[in-house]
Amino acid sequence: MKSRTLRDVKMKLDIKNLTLWQLSVEFKKLGLRSFRARQVFRWIWLKGVRDWSEMSDISKELRTMFAERYRIGQLKVKSRTGSAKQGVVKHLFELEDGSRVEGVWLKDGSRRTVCVSTQAGCSLGCTFCRTAQMGLKRNLLAGEIAGQVLAISKGQAERITNVVFMGMGEPFLNYDACLDAARILNSDFGPKIGARKITISTAGITEGIRRLASEPEQFKLAISLNAADQKTRERLMPIAHRYPLTELMQAVRDYTSMTNKRVTFEYVLLRGVNDRPRDASALILLLQGIPCKINLIPFNPYPGTDYEAPTEVDVNRFSEVIMPHLPAVMVRKSLGGNIFAGCGQLALLQPTADS
Ligand code: SAH
Repeated sequence: MKSRTLRDVKMKLDIKNLTLWQLSVEFKKLGLRSFRARQVFRWIWLKGVRDWSEMSDISKELRTMFAERYRIGQLKVKSRTGSAKQGVVKHLFELEDGSRVEGVWLKDGSRRTVCVSTQAGCSLGCTFCRTAQMGLKRNLLAGEIAGQVLAISKGQAERITNVVFMGMGEPFLNYDACLDAARILNSDFGPKIGARKITISTAGITEGIRRLASEPEQFKLAISLNAADQKTRERLMPIAHRYPLTELMQAVRDYTSMTNKRVTFEYVLLRGVNDRPRDASALILLLQGIPCKINLIPFNPYPGTDYEAPTEVDVNRFSEVIMPHLPAVMVRKSLGGNIFAGCGQLALLQPTADS
């Protein structure tokens, strides 16, 4: 890419970070009408062009002016593992500063879901999570988050139906970029993913939950609960010290009554830690009366972790205990592995062959 010099990266505004509305405001400063923003946005987010020269319905003069002022940021796909047939394709991306993140394509019934990263690494330090070992490198920009969906869709024949913000990082510690990315993905002039098909997952940052409740869009909220008692939760998720369960559950209740929407609770089952019948009973009590769905995710072990995956018997027992008492319980697994673990297991400790 000849035009992408270091100077460009430093000096020019990357228009991929702008929502359609922000792009219209930007173009207005140049005296351009709003259809220009729609035109450019469509080229980038619907057609996936990488260069101004490809925008054939825009005059050469205008394209030259755009190219002088703006750039179109790119993600490099460094590797893909898995296949559509297997139902999971992991993508390793390299950002323009060399940071690396992962995004995952998942097949789940009729859904084609992409799981995106929102930060390079993560600062939360959940003790069972592989990404935690990396620490936080930096927040991703809106274009880098939404761009993962665009890059993944280019390599897939089927239309992407759902997006989950459940890869590396904590979305609510990078709130604005995540919401802008969701708006880009939701736009009629872009990938047009329905707002209800875009789910933002948090470890329990209550300020973010309250902010999301007041957004006009119907984006969905998921909470990584992982334990129904404060002590176990603190052990698994140090952030629980700062946002205790009582406070978290209050924010969730306020969210559901304000928005009239259900929330999804994620619960990673760890053998002997949170998968016992008494943990199931505590979960029933905690979630009583909350309009919700529950995703049980059997822990996906990785080298170096002290935690173990639950046995199948324990997973079944846990779900059988809670099912009569709680709505919509799902066990997230497929063909020998659990599909959502694809998102919960992202860490780039190993350099890849081509780096
Ligand atoms: N920080 C956000 C989003 C990233 S974590 C959040 O906490 O929701 C995405 C999900 O993967 C979380 O629900 C987490 O509990 C789960 N997860 C992390 N590591 C996992 C592993 N090894 N096996 C299964 N699920 C895991």
